[in-house]
Amino acid sequence: MVLELFRLDGRVALVTGGNRGIGAALASGLSAAGATVAVVSRSKPESGFTWFPADLADVDADTLVDQVTGTFGRLDVLVNNAGIIRRADAVDTTDRDWDAVIGVDLDAVFRLCRAAGKVMLAQGRGSIINVASMLSFQGGIRVPAYAAAKHGVVGLTKALANEWAAGGVNVNAIAPGYIATDNTVALRADAQRNAAIVERIPAGRWGVPEDLAGTAVFLASEAARYLHGAVIPVDGGWLAR
Ligand code: NAP
Repeated sequence: MVLELFRLDGRVALVTGGNRGIGAALASGLSAAGATVAVVSRSKPESGFTWFPADLADVDADTLVDQVTGTFGRLDVLVNNAGIIRRADAVDTTDRDWDAVIGVDLDAVFRLCRAAGKVMLAQGRGSIINVASMLSFQGGIRVPAYAAAKHGVVGLTKALANEWAAGGVNVNAIAPGYIATDNTVALRADAQRNAAIVERIPAGRWGVPEDLAGTAVFLASEAARYLHGAVIPVDGGWLAR
């Protein structure tokens, strides 16, 4: 039965930024498919998922992954979702803002992949899902560090897929389009920018976090066992335009 391939019973999933926004929807989707879900964030999730508090700006990824495997005995799915954005013209972007964005959106992603990858390679199985962006493909407007980090996430995803596919570890990415979360409040508050965005989305609306959950379940599951290094846009058709 092909639907059985999508079940995640017995799998342990760690979702960074799983307390709100896109991460919360991905965590709920993985849980509904049968996974045991743990969440990493600075503020406490309202969901009942096991919470591992950590600031990804300064994370000891090996210790964090040790805590998860110490609690659950294994780690099958890592979703690198947590991310931040700082908006400014490139000439006004401070070193501090650049470092903050690269630190959370790219450095922490690599460190968590490395730590989880060791565990998954030893298990002979695992799935890593990195959350990319439309700005993994485009330069965006006034978000140079974010665009650089998200391009980096795609390069990292492909590099790790090359290394780890033969070891049974699937590394792929989801590239969300324009999704209504805290991260995009400023865009939606700017009536002109909001109208321009919606007008360019073939689906004719902003996405909601729940639009991404099915893709995460798929990528975490046996159904995606031969998928390596893919970047799946879930964008209402934005990139096709
Ligand atoms: P969001 O609503 O602003 O949520 C960001 C999440 O990241 C929160 O759970 C936050 O938790 C966590 N986080 C941020 N900094 C952290 C830190 N230093 N340590 C630990 N956790 C941290 O954003 P979102 O829109 O859901 O975005 C989630 C991901 O999707 C990001 O990677 C973003 O770049 C990507 N994305 C979003 C969109 C969009 O349109 N919304 C589009 C493309 C890609 P705490 O604050 O509690 O720590």
